[in-house]
Amino acid sequence: LNDTQFLADFAAMSAIGATSGGGVEREAGTASDHAVRRWFDSWLRKHGFRREYDGIGNQFGLLEFEPGAPWVLVGSHLDSQPLGGRFDGAYGVLVAAYAAARVAVEARAGTIRPTVNLAVVNWFNEEGSRFTPSMMGSAVFTGKLALNTALATEDLAGVSVAASFADSGMTSDFSLTPVAAYAEIHIEQGRLLEDQQRTIGLVDGTWAASKYQVTVTGEQSHTGSTVMRDRRDALYGASLLIAAAHDLTDFYPEGSLHSSVSQLTVLPNSPVVVAREVSMNLDLRSPDERILSKAMNRLDEFSRSISEQANVRIEHRLTHHWGLLSYDPEGSRLTRSIADDLGLPSMVVKTVAGHDSTNMNSLFPTIMLFVPSVDGVSHNEREHTLDEDSLSGLTMFSELCRRMSRGEFPARSSDGGYPATGRGQRRG
Ligand SMILES: [Zn+2]
Repeated sequence: LNDTQFLADFAAMSAIGATSGGGVEREAGTASDHAVRRWFDSWLRKHGFRREYDGIGNQFGLLEFEPGAPWVLVGSHLDSQPLGGRFDGAYGVLVAAYAAARVAVEARAGTIRPTVNLAVVNWFNEEGSRFTPSMMGSAVFTGKLALNTALATEDLAGVSVAASFADSGMTSDFSLTPVAAYAEIHIEQGRLLEDQQRTIGLVDGTWAASKYQVTVTGEQSHTGSTVMRDRRDALYGASLLIAAAHDLTDFYPEGSLHSSVSQLTVLPNSPVVVAREVSMNLDLRSPDERILSKAMNRLDEFSRSISEQANVRIEHRLTHHWGLLSYDPEGSRLTRSIADDLGLPSMVVKTVAGHDSTNMNSLFPTIMLFVPSVDGVSHNEREHTLDEDSLSGLTMFSELCRRMSRGEFPARSSDGGYPATGRGQRRG
């Protein structure tokens, strides 16, 4: 479980679904996703974890130190985008596994006495590239998405999540409860840490986000013979909306709104037929909820004028929304003091990307940490984190895991009990 072994294991894991450009391709529920899960299964067993899957195929490695005591959960995800990077998610899963296994070794040696149980998790379908929405496994775990709805979700080829598991044995009726806290480490996927020459990002909040499913409906006709004024070209309408969504960001201060359309389905997608329908996603994010809601209103106005201009119908449905969500300040204080103790330069950052911790944070005391991404590149085969930073993150997370196993987060009340098993309950 030393640093050299960590890098070797990370390389072995990255070979599964490896692409020629140095990345990985392990979309949720594909053969390469299943392969990396099996690799992780054997890693967990080899290091004394009990392996379980829940109903949506979240993969758990359990270390039960105190039967009946609550679980502290640590992890991230092993699935990737198409032509994705090696580090996104996978880094955090392996770090969490190492950190927990190190605690187990110390517990067996008697140098530490855990007061809670530790579980490592590989969340199913964090990326959402094949099955929408993203962060599916943690959404089901936290009750934000019904299990049956998730299992029935189909990819563009009509294959359901349930069918993708087929007879892999990767789902069961296991459920992990009660959970006391969650922690995750991830690559930053931005360049703040690199620019400020810091090694550890202490995430104090998530940008607000609104995700839409947009359908533009026109009418199918001949690309050559249909006179221009008769056309109801869905692709033309979609392209105006794509441009408008991009230019929407110019209305607000720089850096305060991110917007994108990144997936299109064109029907019938024929070179000689004017498109009758285009469906696409549309994604708006902001660190300011007021700006996000103004942008949403402006998008409605744009849709109305574009539908007139292109003579098409535009419907957009909000499929996913989260507001500005801050992480537990107690966790921020704990991680800052650990970073200081270890001499690791740190800074407070917000996450623009959603993570499984975004879901967990709404229900449980949650900690999120970042390590630097070279040039801020992510969702790309070139995604990279330097070995030195990668190992600093491992050191940091190992110490965090050690502290959490002693019940330091969330802090126990004076009678030795937890204030509550989850934030949801505490809020009533
Ligand atoms: Zn990720």
